Amino acid sequence: MHPRDLSDHSQYVPGRGVEEVARDRGLDPDDLIKLSSNENPHGPSPAAVEAIREHADRVHQYPKSSHTDLTAKIAEKWGVATEQVWVSPGADGSIDYLARAALEPGDEVLVPSPGFAYYGMSARYHHGGVTEYALDPADGFAQDAETVLSAYGGERIVYVTSPHNPSGSTMPLDEVKAIADATAEDTLVVVDEAYGEFADVDSAIPLVDERDDVAVLRTFSKAYGLAGLRIGYSVVPEAWGEAYARVNTPFAANELACRAALAALDDEAHVTESVETAQWAREYIADELDAPTVESAGNFVLAEVGDAERAADAAQERGVIIRDCTSFGLPNHVRISTGTREETREAVERLNETLADLGLGVRA
Ligand code: PMP
Repeated sequence: MHPRDLSDHSQYVPGRGVEEVARDRGLDPDDLIKLSSNENPHGPSPAAVEAIREHADRVHQYPKSSHTDLTAKIAEKWGVATEQVWVSPGADGSIDYLARAALEPGDEVLVPSPGFAYYGMSARYHHGGVTEYALDPADGFAQDAETVLSAYGGERIVYVTSPHNPSGSTMPLDEVKAIADATAEDTLVVVDEAYGEFADVDSAIPLVDERDDVAVLRTFSKAYGLAGLRIGYSVVPEAWGEAYARVNTPFAANELACRAALAALDDEAHVTESVETAQWAREYIADELDAPTVESAGNFVLAEVGDAERAADAAQERGVIIRDCTSFGLPNHVRISTGTREETREAVERLNETLADLGLGVRA
């Protein structure tokens, strides 16, 4: 007795954790700087932590009103109808909900390469197929309609990641519109704005209201610092609103996650500080790292070091955990998440020592 044939399915490769690396290397976890998972170095909003404490003794009840309140608050924030907001366990959960709502067996999704692995994984779970469009490292992973449309063959969902993981490049809204205009009537363009708060470009959410073929993903994992709670959402076309009740896993997001997200949305000081730090740190890394970097609108920077596996491994010896991008198909690149100002300065110093030791990096 076995599961179905999953040989086509890839595994999600997360960034390495502090405890794991400390144990492997015999290092003190307190000496490690973890810049491998695009997490918020300021931690969660203090207001969110307070909300979690306050509601902890009510987790014997299924979440109901908190979910309704969060949906209403997000809808108000973006000026859309509550039916258009699909709250989910992380943006990942929304990727699943959209796949369930959109894909018939054998339908395809079009995804960026390199890109976020879960688009394709989710499509496959839902008996769909995956086609890729290539973003060019030589071009700074530039994103425009032509690049996407040249690979388009009538897929049911087209994923655009803006800011893009792992490069940090963005796609202008006119280009998103051009894709939606050029694709078939039953193709949904999903703009993943998991890192949207860090970017100086406009959200695509107003497009969702103007047209019926664009959806947007957002998350509380990054700028709001709630990655461990798994809470995110999508904003979907009006006609898709009622599909939510038919596709979501019952009680789509947990009670503490909804309460924390509600509090975090009101804590503007925390988001502002988080965004300002990321913007400062990505400039600092681009200016000071001894390797060519890609201009980033996210809370991370992609750097071309030459041999990502060796560089990431040696960096760990020096107590800095960064992401080897080999699993993204970029064996010469590492992705460095932005830390606090202090962590970022320290990490760049240690990374430059690492690169010098290995004879890697060096700016163009
Ligand atoms: N989209 C992108 C581009 C991401 O990088 C991530 C997280 N790594 C997600 C979506 C999912 O985020 P979450 O499920 O934590 O909301």
